[in-house]
Amino acid sequence: MTPADLPPARHFVDGEFVDGEFVDGEFVDAAAERVIDVIDPSTENVIARIPAGTAGDVDRAVAAAVAAKGAWGRLVPKARSEVLHAIADRVAEHAEPLARLESANTGKPLAVSRDDVGMTVDTFRFMAGAGRATTSMAAGDYAEDHLSVILREPLGVIGVVTPWNYPLLMAAWKIAPILAAGNTLVLKPSEQTPLTTLKFAELVADLLPPGVLNVVNGYGAVAGARLAEHPDVNMIALTGSVTSGRAVARAAAESLKRVHLELGGKAPVVIFPDADLAAAASSLRVASFWNSGQECGAACRVLVHESVAERFVEQLVGEVEALVVGEPTSGDDVEVGPMVSKAHFDRVTGYLERAGKEGVRVATGGGALGGPGYFVAPTVLVDVPEGAEVAREEIFGPVVTVETFTDEEEAVRRANDVPLGLSASVWTENARRSHDIAGRLDFGTVWVNSHLVLAGEVPWGGFKGSGYGRDLSVYALDDYSRTKHVMHNHGR
Ligand code: NAD
Repeated sequence: MTPADLPPARHFVDGEFVDGEFVDGEFVDAAAERVIDVIDPSTENVIARIPAGTAGDVDRAVAAAVAAKGAWGRLVPKARSEVLHAIADRVAEHAEPLARLESANTGKPLAVSRDDVGMTVDTFRFMAGAGRATTSMAAGDYAEDHLSVILREPLGVIGVVTPWNYPLLMAAWKIAPILAAGNTLVLKPSEQTPLTTLKFAELVADLLPPGVLNVVNGYGAVAGARLAEHPDVNMIALTGSVTSGRAVARAAAESLKRVHLELGGKAPVVIFPDADLAAAASSLRVASFWNSGQECGAACRVLVHESVAERFVEQLVGEVEALVVGEPTSGDDVEVGPMVSKAHFDRVTGYLERAGKEGVRVATGGGALGGPGYFVAPTVLVDVPEGAEVAREEIFGPVVTVETFTDEEEAVRRANDVPLGLSASVWTENARRSHDIAGRLDFGTVWVNSHLVLAGEVPWGGFKGSGYGRDLSVYALDDYSRTKHVMHNHGR
């Protein structure tokens, strides 16, 4: 990667980069006092520096978004749609450098980054169309001599906070529906992985009116917290951990702004004896290890019927041992890269070290791979007792646990017995059983004989500790809009 591929490390406010500059291979911010190192997790090298934005930086960006909201919100849907299509085209034109930048900043295998960029383009295209179809409607006469009209209005200014695991894609999942619904926004990317978001802002700068999209760098506890509490921000949308979700919801409470939370997951994979075990094992090779397991929907918690457990584990271990682990851009066949940071690497390996003390057995993998880079071996853990830490908490790494069950009741009870409710899968050839179990699982998405397949038309979001609100689909447009009823008396 050359410096030319890197985005300027400046705050993108009001249509231009206003403070800081790219000097001599380093990104420096002219205003902020502190800078944050951005690290390539496969080499451990610092590849950029970004400013640690302050509350003042956030306030300036919010003021820009406030000033821009009226004109953007009043555009007819077709006009906004054309801008979103142009954004999709622009991202598509720069797909490969964006994917490489994403891999450099996150350690994602290139195939995953390319998939992220492809879905980013599709998200803008979907919202470009969907925003036109669902703007408002005349509803009819529900009271005598009165015509009701239901309007869908923009909320105004939306604050967005994104995580490190899908920096560009999570930004796209927010930006596209927010813009399509007629809002303006201030986005704070993860301080660890801001580069593709900044590059995106730079790429689309000439397509959007100034102030409609603003990006402010910084730490969550400072810049993110200010966005959540800001009185002029009408809604805060966060994708991140449960802890951050709670902090954002608390900060938002004072102004009673709307909150949208996409938080963690601990997806159960419930496998019945009549399932196609080979198909399940080969699906999990992708669904458990996609993005090196740093995936909120990852198939990380297998619950398999005791009668087929041994056979299934054998097949799963075969698939996992065939995974290609490597430097993310070293080849198109790389399936698993490093953990995103040293801190996260320590967290994941810490879970593996403690698991042994609870009687858990390593079927394959089980620890760190040699550096440089924060690589963890793809791991399958078996003999996992009910309630073990690794089966309860989100590890967010290339680790699958395998537990067994004896009947449907136990399968459902144990699958639901976690505080998170993002996604799950059921594996069986029996249609009655799949329908019944899917209905009883307390998760926002349930796949049957599949796992981790997403599409722009269908909603994504969780139950319980996984938060509330939906990304993707027309449900996201609803989340970023408010409904107004206007009633006309036409009887006089
Ligand atoms: P994180 O919560 O540490 O950080 C997410 C973002 O929140 C970052 O930008 C961070 O700076 C910010 N933040 C932290 N504290 C804040 C505060 N007090 N106020 C405002 N903002 C704050 O999460 P992460 O480690 O970056 O991402 C991993 C987590 O994200 C995992 O739990 C994962 O499951 C979740 N995730 C969920 C989805 C989903 O769709 N449900 C998708 C991707 C990731």
